[in-house]
Amino acid sequence: MRRKLAAGNWKMNGLDAALSELEGLPAAENCDILLCPPATLLAPMVTKSVALGGAIKVGGQDCHANATGAHTGDIAAEMLADAGAGYVILGHSERRADHGETDADVAAKSLAARRAGLIAVVCIGETEVQYKAGETLDVIRTQMHGSLPPGSSLANTVIAYEPVWAIGTGLVPTTEEIAQVHGFIRDELATQFGQGMANGTRILYGGSVKPGNAAEIFATADVDGALVGGASLKAADFGAIITAL
Ligand code: PGA
Repeated sequence: MRRKLAAGNWKMNGLDAALSELEGLPAAENCDILLCPPATLLAPMVTKSVALGGAIKVGGQDCHANATGAHTGDIAAEMLADAGAGYVILGHSERRADHGETDADVAAKSLAARRAGLIAVVCIGETEVQYKAGETLDVIRTQMHGSLPPGSSLANTVIAYEPVWAIGTGLVPTTEEIAQVHGFIRDELATQFGQGMANGTRILYGGSVKPGNAAEIFATADVDGALVGGASLKAADFGAIITAL
């Protein structure tokens, strides 16, 4: 009932030539495929996806809370939609760290995404210090309460659980740990938004997902897909992850 989602976050990687990687991705009948390139590649990636049949959905990596205005270097959710995006990643830990984004910022951006008709992929996750201190579930609860605005629904929101210490490090929580956090997120969704949202919302795992560990992670309870960084840049790797879903 929850359609699986294989999402790729290209971060600040990729020039025009990288779009040829899309040609090597497998057709996936039983899951959605989403790629979030840097802003310069958004519109060309949409064109490329359409040329390949349109199965690959395209998303932004951030948006501003406002629709227009004097915000040099920023991109409005409406602009992402105008370029053909259907999704936007919000609150990625790199945005939180590099740009000081708070939960309140993420909530405002989530509302902007909704205003523009985009699905928000809201990222949450604990740091290594918080993990070692046993604070993971407290951090997750706080981030969910702060980052998910009223009116969040399974139609406009995807959650990505990304332990900060697992991003780009090759470290991955045990499947027991992933199952515990994903189950907790689903329970919190029920508390905050009701059982319908809890049952239907896709919860992705992100952090060092690779072809070699994808099948085990996807077999874990309450995991509905992945948000993949480094391994989404090459069709061979991302294709193997898609196939494992
Ligand atoms: P990674 O990044 O797969 O390279 O660890 C994941 C992410 O930051 O979304």
